[in-house]
Amino acid sequence: MNRSINFSAGPAALPLAVLERVQDELLDYRGLGHSIMETSHRSPEFMELADRSKRNLRAIYGLNDDFEVLFLQGGATLQFAMIPMNFPDGGRPAGYVDTGVWASKAISEARCIREVDVLASGASACSDIVSWGNCEGRPYVHITANETVNGVQFPELPSMGDTPVCADISSEFLTRPLDVNSASLAYAGAQKNAGPAGVTIVIVHREVIDAMSGELPSMLSYRRHARAGSMLNTPATFSWYVAGLVFEWVLAEGGVAEMERRTEVKSRLLYHVLDQSDLYLTTLPSECRSRVNVPFWLGSETMDQKFLEAAEGRGLRNLKGHQRVGGIRASLYNAVSESDVRQLVEFMQDFERTA
Ligand code: PMP
Repeated sequence: MNRSINFSAGPAALPLAVLERVQDELLDYRGLGHSIMETSHRSPEFMELADRSKRNLRAIYGLNDDFEVLFLQGGATLQFAMIPMNFPDGGRPAGYVDTGVWASKAISEARCIREVDVLASGASACSDIVSWGNCEGRPYVHITANETVNGVQFPELPSMGDTPVCADISSEFLTRPLDVNSASLAYAGAQKNAGPAGVTIVIVHREVIDAMSGELPSMLSYRRHARAGSMLNTPATFSWYVAGLVFEWVLAEGGVAEMERRTEVKSRLLYHVLDQSDLYLTTLPSECRSRVNVPFWLGSETMDQKFLEAAEGRGLRNLKGHQRVGGIRASLYNAVSESDVRQLVEFMQDFERTA
């Protein structure tokens, strides 16, 4: 077997131990005689798996019973619409912080549904909460905790007093602790760091659910999803199962504090090389740099292309930047090891010497 070193932004690398477990259980899930994909979501086996995955996610983030954990479909993109649909009018527009491509998409979707104020824009908005103004009376404030394309990350989730904070944590999910005192609602598509595409994890405070608008079609209503245990219809059973295995892996490896430590180490290795370099360019101030998705450029498309081809030759895969910004992007999710990043930075130093 020759597994590549995979820096994909998503769908992304999964821990080998999880893939091997899936392989082991694929034909016969724990004595059932068939796979979990071939089992009813109402079966005792799937219900047990669903409960265990929720319990483990609660343990990972230290969530008490005030929080609901939902496993929905429609990707993080559907959350862009569900949030503005479910929160009641607060007399003021909802507040959005525009830190990049995904925040802008969330804003456009929300504008189809309700009035929105953009409180602040650009990378510096992450570390300058004062510039957002007084948010009292807003139904909620939405942030994109980590911008997968632009490589901008909030140093920490902002605390807004009584105003609920909704955070898109898609690409930092499971890479650092979640301050549950700050976020009233946090959501993540699984395919970055927690499994195959198809399931979206939503962590939401019960108070927020209780205060939510009443009459929505059931598939768009957090309250109805919560009451039905995320089984209003057939959930994405296989993706949910794999996400559950990833949660077990995270706990066995030392939990989210250990994931944060590893993420810090890996990103420091990479930024150190970028900061020393005359070839590689980064554009962001250090306080809002993402520790998870690291974009950089080599000054021309030709050089970017040469870099990517040479990297492929060394087994370093999926380093192409997002089409909106070009260049290179290394995503340092939990399945990417420190040794993988060391191989990347060695390659980058070699490439710079010979460029
Ligand atoms: N938010 C962020 C931060 C993302 O990175 C992505 C996907 N790249 C999305 C939202 C959209 O996710 P999905 O494809 O699951 O709808």
